[in-house]
Amino acid sequence: MTHWLELDPAAQAGQIAALGFPRFRVGQLNRHLLTHHSFDPDTWTDVPKAERAALAELAPNPLTVVRAPSADDGQTIKTLWRLADGELVESVLMAYPGRSTVCVSSQVGCGMGCPFCATGQLGLRRNLTAAEIAAQVIAAAREPAFPRLSNVVFMGMGEPLANYGPVLASIRLIAGPMGISARGITVSTVGLVPRIDQLAKEGLPLTLALSLHAPDDELRDQLCPLNRRFPVAEVLAAGRRYFDATGRRVSVEYALIDSVNDQTWRAERLGRALGRRWAHVNLIGLNPTPGVKWKASGRQAEFVKCLAATGISVTIRDTRGQDIAGACGQLAAAD
Ligand code: SF4
Repeated sequence: MTHWLELDPAAQAGQIAALGFPRFRVGQLNRHLLTHHSFDPDTWTDVPKAERAALAELAPNPLTVVRAPSADDGQTIKTLWRLADGELVESVLMAYPGRSTVCVSSQVGCGMGCPFCATGQLGLRRNLTAAEIAAQVIAAAREPAFPRLSNVVFMGMGEPLANYGPVLASIRLIAGPMGISARGITVSTVGLVPRIDQLAKEGLPLTLALSLHAPDDELRDQLCPLNRRFPVAEVLAAGRRYFDATGRRVSVEYALIDSVNDQTWRAERLGRALGRRWAHVNLIGLNPTPGVKWKASGRQAEFVKCLAATGISVTIRDTRGQDIAGACGQLAAAD
């Protein structure tokens, strides 16, 4: 049965009418799920007790916690979730002063096969539904010890743009009734060019993150096998078009790997390939991952200096959750 959160307003009204409940239960149920962040019918106190079980059947919580270790003095929580069919995914919640960010998964595993990534080693098992994605955000928003949830990043397990419809539907819930600004939502992609162009036309000021990791096709073909279909120049041109359509500066993600992509000539080439106005670079230290032979680069400062000399703005991503394998490229959802 299609989950309540995936029904359009007319279908939601139809379900409520079929149960013989008053029409305003539609708004009540949506408020409990998306504003009060509760799938628990016992908390739906403005709904008569006799009706709650039937409503809960329309809108079950698609996620069950398997475990939720914390790191960084309790400022980071990585939750392993079990889905209704037994599959496992992870999300990571991070507290910052006055606000929180959740990193969500969009697929079980990933079919893109990037060799430095733990998720890529699993292969694609299945796409998540919009309800399964939104439920990760709902859970993050109800975490009592964390400040207000202001940012959602699609950088967990999976290539979000390879699961376009459900990802977009979840974003419309998050940026709509959940009240998180679309500007606070980042969609990361390894470079599915037609889907980047589609996203640019959605009329949402989302942040696009391009996982580039190399400025040249020779190396990127190895680090991101999708590059053989959509090479660097095409991916960057799509990023530029995204900026032109949305006015949102694109974040170019670059995981610095020791003696693989950290040479100063690559920093210069990267800087030359990007436009100052439409892109900035977010450098990531490679996180240790079992089965991955590469390690983080020790030449970050040199790389930053060369890149900055080309006029491109550079930030260095704060690495969170490394000791619980909750950092970028480490999500593998092992039970
Ligand atoms: S880096 Fe992203 S696109 Fe590549 S395998 Fe990992 S999850 Fe998939």
